[in-house]
Amino acid sequence: MRSPSLQDIPAVEAVLNDPAIRPLVTEWGRLAVRQAIREQQAEIRAAMRGGAPTPTAPLASDLRRRLISTGGRGPRPVFNLTGTVIHTNLGRASLPETAIRAMARAAHDPVDLEYDLGAGRRGHRDQHVTGLLCALTGAEAATVVNNNAAALMLVLNTLALHREVPVSRGELIEIGGSFRLPDIMARAGCELREVGTTNRTHPADYANAISKQTGLLLKVHRSNYVVEGFTAEVGERELAALARRHELPLVVDLGSGALLDLERFGLPAEPTPMQSLDSGADLVTFSGDKLLGGPQAGIIVGRKALVERLNANPMKRALRLDKLTLAALAEVLKLYTEPERLSEELPVIRQLAREQTEIRSQAERLAPQLAECLPEFEVVAVDMVGQIGSGALPQTQIPSAGLRIAPAAGGNENATLERLAGALRALPRPVIGRVHRGRLWLDLRCLEDEAQFIEQLSALEIAGQ
Ligand SMILES: *Cc1c(COP(=O)(O)O)cnc(C)c1O
Repeated sequence: MRSPSLQDIPAVEAVLNDPAIRPLVTEWGRLAVRQAIREQQAEIRAAMRGGAPTPTAPLASDLRRRLISTGGRGPRPVFNLTGTVIHTNLGRASLPETAIRAMARAAHDPVDLEYDLGAGRRGHRDQHVTGLLCALTGAEAATVVNNNAAALMLVLNTLALHREVPVSRGELIEIGGSFRLPDIMARAGCELREVGTTNRTHPADYANAISKQTGLLLKVHRSNYVVEGFTAEVGERELAALARRHELPLVVDLGSGALLDLERFGLPAEPTPMQSLDSGADLVTFSGDKLLGGPQAGIIVGRKALVERLNANPMKRALRLDKLTLAALAEVLKLYTEPERLSEELPVIRQLAREQTEIRSQAERLAPQLAECLPEFEVVAVDMVGQIGSGALPQTQIPSAGLRIAPAAGGNENATLERLAGALRALPRPVIGRVHRGRLWLDLRCLEDEAQFIEQLSALEIAGQ
């Protein structure tokens, strides 16, 4: 028997054509897989120089692990077991089937995107959703853009370019990622005029800030924090009266904004655009993919004269929605015209409305099956608290249930748990949980495809076991 030789390592191109590797090429593309093979072989060479034997198989699972951390295969489905239902990092709202089908149709064939079929001439793309938005919110007019950040930019740039906008110091929000209100305002070309203090803002603070330079009044929903204790804020109604006196528009950035009363699904009330309009707001902005449960979009509803000015801003063209999003949004809005269908058909509502007892029995059903795949761990069905996410109702904890996993043998628990969490993320459909206080928590509120979840567990490979 001769000793292992570096020559025994197959050529990169030969590995690429190996049937065991083909699925990786399909998933990640040839360039990424070739690069991963090169890296793998460099490590194998180094190990062999240290006396390790030549590997005999192409080591597909090792390649898969390397590829997963490089990304670049496009967004893939994961299981969101984080306990946060509308999770920005996991793509926020899942769409209803009707919206998915509409997107596929619009992707496949030419569509009447900007074409008026009745008149046989050019139409406007927003018309696919503006009628529904007005009907659902009672607004005079509506327009739609890429997301709520874009909505706010368009409003500020159109109505307050080179002018001042008073905002309460208690509402200068930062949303995860890079949404900071002062930065958005600066880029929209208007000047932030801070009024009041962090905890207390009074009508007189706004009144004293208003001058000839003022472009509009802005009220921002505190999506992801609360101000508690010795506090005061100026409500929409009072602000609307002040705005009216000075002939300024009142704009309300609602953030999430629900299109109906969530209490009918046993959830706490979230402010609605209808309430803001009713209080006298001239424009209201909110997201399409938060509590609305639709595709990423920014929705602006309110006065017709103002919406016309928004549509006439050249920026609107840069922020407009594409045909796929419009197709999905129209279907989601249609569902809202039959609210009794929502708890079945709209995933965000369906998941938020799930009863804790039902989730708990799912956890009890799954615990022994997961325990069987994880002999080194203790798996227990427990009650948990989740949250809505994406800045909706930040204080609200929603009673949930799921699986709590701990290493059975103690030792370096965190390292062991991180290895398990990593193995779950390396599954064909990655499972995303939460490591917290020496345990891995899998909240089952959003687990709908239970069979797929269980089936792929047999592929679990925990490094170092
Ligand atoms: C989430 C949020 C935004 C940003 O909305 P996107 O749709 O993510 O761009 C803006 N304002 C408030 C108050 C929000 O909650």
